[in-house]
Amino acid sequence: MSTSGTSSAVADATAFLAANWSKDVDPQTWRELVIDERWSALRWPSAWFGRDLADDEAKEVEAVFAAAGAPGPGQDITNLWAGTMLAFGSDELKAQFMRPLLLDEVAMCLLYSEPGAGSDLAGIRTTAVRDGEEWVVNGQKVWTSGARDADYGMLIARTDWDQPKHRGITFFWFPMRQPGVEVRPLRQATGDARFNEVFITDARVPETHRVGELNKGWWVLQTALAYERMAMGGVRRGGGGRAPSGATAAAHGTIPVPDVWLTKLARDMGKADDPVVRQRLMTLHCHRVVNDLNGERAKAVAKAGGSSPLASLGKLSMAMLLHEAGRLQGHLLGMEAGLDGDAFPRSRDHNYSQLNAYFFSIGGGTDQIQRNIIGERLLGLPKEPEVDRDVAFRNVAKS
Ligand SMILES: Cc1cc2nc3c(=O)[nH]c(=O)nc-3n(C[C@H](O)[C@H](O)[C@H](O)COP(=O)(O)OP(=O)(O)OC[C@H]3O[C@@H](n4cnc5c(N)ncnc54)[C@H](O)[C@@H]3O)c2cc1C
Repeated sequence: MSTSGTSSAVADATAFLAANWSKDVDPQTWRELVIDERWSALRWPSAWFGRDLADDEAKEVEAVFAAAGAPGPGQDITNLWAGTMLAFGSDELKAQFMRPLLLDEVAMCLLYSEPGAGSDLAGIRTTAVRDGEEWVVNGQKVWTSGARDADYGMLIARTDWDQPKHRGITFFWFPMRQPGVEVRPLRQATGDARFNEVFITDARVPETHRVGELNKGWWVLQTALAYERMAMGGVRRGGGGRAPSGATAAAHGTIPVPDVWLTKLARDMGKADDPVVRQRLMTLHCHRVVNDLNGERAKAVAKAGGSSPLASLGKLSMAMLLHEAGRLQGHLLGMEAGLDGDAFPRSRDHNYSQLNAYFFSIGGGTDQIQRNIIGERLLGLPKEPEVDRDVAFRNVAKS
């Protein structure tokens, strides 16, 4: 529904684009301009790079940018680092980090999972102990994507062993480039080595880098996870019919749209008239459209201050979609799918797609965990038994 606020935002956007946008503008100059003129995160407050727009208003402005072919808006949905900082960071931290995060000038990683705490993330044992105006951190993290290049990590650490496991955790903006932080790469099934083990020994984080309240990091984490799951559920932003090999460089939110490029592959393989192939392509397409609509719902709930169950539905759905896309890709290639290597790019891409689908069904919380969340929080099914829920973490049996 159009409002006067919307029309004025649309008029302002149109005027801004007319005065500043051209396809020849230097990308970095454009990026800075869009951020500083508050077009990159329309739903955020005006004090922090936003315009306080409601979701429907923001969508109209985003459509104006898209129609002009001008990139920039959307960071309020996709930028998990800045979004978490906005929701829970102190003004001092926000002043230091928001703009560099929007400009992608700070490399970040997620220091959540540990060898004994993946799905059961509240079981983390990495510990932070207060020492004057700093915290001293010891422990081990694992599966940390991007840790080798990261300047900072969003760290969850146990700060009170006498509280039940969800309640004694604090969230920190942790400096990665310091003595006591050792990063060791892990090789993935795809051949990439994007994630790592991180060993933390007597490393330090200032008290001013605490994000959210002491011992209430679990709630900060839920917001950060909701951002991550929404980004992982939103394949559409990858745009058009990019070749599947584009997926090798994929980050969250930039993977290609499988029903579009698989239709092209079906044509290339002379199978576009096969009724079974058509049926599977159409199923994929419907699945993606429904997932897009669910993504819109999740965004609206997140904007209203809700949490993650709808984002879980989107992420689960995207994982299913990408697994089916990989299977269909193999079906289209037939015997050729058994080949691999750079001499056989189509089958190499197929192998990558099949393996990389697990990124979506494990990273950010497994499919089974998303099903638990959907069952308990969307469908209202009985909760899983939690024998250690009210027990001091110190007394919980550990492996
Ligand atoms: C590509 C990729 C990138 C990642 N990047 C990061 C990162 O940057 N930072 C980070 O901290 N972590 C990262 N992870 C880790 C990821 O979040 C964990 O792998 C995931 O949460 C599962 O934890 P786990 O591996 O310890 O498996 P486990 O928790 O040991 O689970 C093993 C199996 O048991 C099932 N299971 C466990 N508990 C339940 C339950 N209650 N109900 C039903 N089934 C259950 C799981 O679904 C799974 O199938 C990444 C993982 C991948 C694959």
